[in-house]
Amino acid sequence: MDYHATTPVDQRVVDAMMPYFTAHFGNAASKQHSYGWTAEAAVEHARQTIARTINADANEIIFTSGATESNNLALKGVAENFRSRGNHIITVQTEHRSVLDVCRNLEERGFEVTCLPVDGNGLVNVDDIRRAMTAGTILVSVMMANNEIGTIAPIAEIGKLCAEHGIIFHTDATQAVGKISVDVQAMNIHLMSFSAHKVYGPKGIGALYVRSKNPYVKLLPQIDGGGHERGMRSGTLNVPAIVGFGKAVQLAAENLENESARISRLRNMLEHRFMNIEETRINGHPAMRLHNNLNVTFSNVPADDLMMALRNDVALSSGSACTSADPEAGKVSHVLKAIGLDDEHARCSVRFGLGRFTTEEEVRFVAERVTKAVEEIRRKSPARLIAERELA
Ligand code: PMP
Repeated sequence: MDYHATTPVDQRVVDAMMPYFTAHFGNAASKQHSYGWTAEAAVEHARQTIARTINADANEIIFTSGATESNNLALKGVAENFRSRGNHIITVQTEHRSVLDVCRNLEERGFEVTCLPVDGNGLVNVDDIRRAMTAGTILVSVMMANNEIGTIAPIAEIGKLCAEHGIIFHTDATQAVGKISVDVQAMNIHLMSFSAHKVYGPKGIGALYVRSKNPYVKLLPQIDGGGHERGMRSGTLNVPAIVGFGKAVQLAAENLENESARISRLRNMLEHRFMNIEETRINGHPAMRLHNNLNVTFSNVPADDLMMALRNDVALSSGSACTSADPEAGKVSHVLKAIGLDDEHARCSVRFGLGRFTTEEEVRFVAERVTKAVEEIRRKSPARLIAERELA
């Protein structure tokens, strides 16, 4: 139940990758022999597959180590390159830490960042973005789909607005690619980050889409070296991972409609079961939400207690796995706070993420186990429940 954190590598992806560890082990930058040519051909095939899926050209795909690096390259790369034009960046409070922390870093270096609020469903208001724009705005960064509450932003509208104002538009589409259809042309996207391990590909490989025309977007590279990836990201390419990334994106694109219909049916089943539990609230937008996401607040049931009660049966999360790596980050989700939950309710929220290998039987099991655990935890601490009711 934690597919937002990561996904298992699809066996078909593993099979596609295997020869590139052994028989075809060449360096894709070796131009003098067939080992290199074979590796390069495989990389270019993956690049084309990924580009086609998002309606981009192959040369607009820059391979990175993942979405964290892509976000760093996009934001720092634009900020450093366009500094003479302006120093203002617009983003949103519910972004992933790999955007928010980069913004903080840029602020320390003299950039000005406007971090816009969202409404109770997690949506940013496009007029707020318009109003925040100044003559010095060089970049707008808004995530396509939120990793905690699944809310899908009005990306095409924001893209159009940025294009009208000649401002570069970046979107972190890590949770969206492979789940909803993404078209960088129709959506007027200039830069887009995504990652293989969220779509049944391997960890440690991702991409940044960098628009090459209308307009040509120039970035200052963050890793200098041999000039790989059009000079934007040097370093020997991870050929097996790139091959796996390509295969994973291809499979996701081929099965997008069937898979989203199947998973949303299971998610709705689970949601329906949870709504039968009293004092339950679903977080995120009721309609504009990822089909595999279900973020639930069970009042008076601390997420830590629930996860502890279910630790041997259900893999759950109270938010972003990336944030949990940092003990300084505190326990209250910045996303849930941004949509208006107080600390107490944010602490009583858990995230369910369904995926390709989730079965109906598993969903029934989870519904049952969670319902029982919630009732049990509430029974053990009725005092808190009563106190809260009296306060209300
Ligand atoms: N952005 C979002 C929205 C994410 O969900 C994640 C992964 N949790 C990342 C960025 C970071 O991706 P990666 O693990 O590939 O660095």
